[in-house]
Amino acid sequence: MNNKVYFTPGPSELYATVPQHMQTALDEKIGSISHRSQQFKDIYAHAVSGLRQLLQLPDNFEVLFLGSATEIWERAIQNTVRQESFHLVNGSFSKRFYEVAKELGRTATKYEAPFGEGFDVQSITVPETAELVALIQNETSSGTSMPVAEINRFREKAPADALIFVDAVSSLPHPAFDFTKVDAVYFSVQKCFGLPAGLGVWLVNDRCVAKAEAILADGDSIGSYHSLPGMVQKSRENQTAETPNVLNIYLLGKVLADMNRKGVAQIRKETEEKAAQVYTYLQRSKVFDAAVQNPQHRSATTIVANTTVPASEVNKQLAKYDLALGSGYGKYKESQIRIANFPAHSPEQMQKLVEKLEELFG
Ligand SMILES: *Cc1c(COP(=O)(O)O)cnc(C)c1O
Repeated sequence: MNNKVYFTPGPSELYATVPQHMQTALDEKIGSISHRSQQFKDIYAHAVSGLRQLLQLPDNFEVLFLGSATEIWERAIQNTVRQESFHLVNGSFSKRFYEVAKELGRTATKYEAPFGEGFDVQSITVPETAELVALIQNETSSGTSMPVAEINRFREKAPADALIFVDAVSSLPHPAFDFTKVDAVYFSVQKCFGLPAGLGVWLVNDRCVAKAEAILADGDSIGSYHSLPGMVQKSRENQTAETPNVLNIYLLGKVLADMNRKGVAQIRKETEEKAAQVYTYLQRSKVFDAAVQNPQHRSATTIVANTTVPASEVNKQLAKYDLALGSGYGKYKESQIRIANFPAHSPEQMQKLVEKLEELFG
């Protein structure tokens, strides 16, 4: 039996209701039903409508299910970029999207901020030739976030037909996006939705689909089973081209219903209160301090702190109390800790973590 509470930045603690939904899924043999059945179509429609409600998604956006956010990077480039994409890079995930574009043979350009810093949006010029502008709302590797007001400014900055893509993998549903200012937003369920990994969700508007159709009409490849027009066509019938992750789509629909019962406003408020509690502690701690200097750019959902005690030692001490947090990313493995503050983490659990950290390390 593992009684640990995981504050790792994804996979992380499961949403509290997931065990009961998993049990129901087993009782109803969800793992055995056909993905062409009406029962699956209902499961699919339930997940989509739950997400539309939670995020107040306008009708010109589609909800598509893919394997992961990593897959969405590849599909984004294949389907919406003929030649050139432009990326804001300030950590490992935003950098990886930039690399994917290059690996697919596109010209990728970037505006780079140092690891642990947000962007000075004022000073960024989007190239006139950019077809896709890749923004990162929450850079999980460094704990920096981009306020929605800054994201919204890119509609004016970017060429009129450029598509604005937002990585909100480790923050949604916390940021309240203005969906008139962005063209695509994507996330993975193992971050803020408190589910097992293996499902990427792509919110994509009609402008992105039209671009893919135009590239296809020119005779260029937009991929095969996961082309944008193909996925949209299937999703209109509550279907997917492949046999999808039925169990996770089922669980997502159930968790979304739970989240909608609670209300997105309450989820956002709790997220901010828990984040404030952690950052206040980091300020008074002698061992930890917030890694992101500018409070405007500090993530509410993936909090990163510098540590003078190696991260592995922090976790070793915490393990005695059934608590686990994330180590630093890459070369910061031992010199930083990362604390996930997702909707699955209750205010009580977060309080216990902060109390134990203070008791053990000051
Ligand atoms: C986790 C993460 C990804 C990748 O998600 P996968 O589900 O592993 O493909 C991309 N971007 C950010 C910001 C992430 O935190």
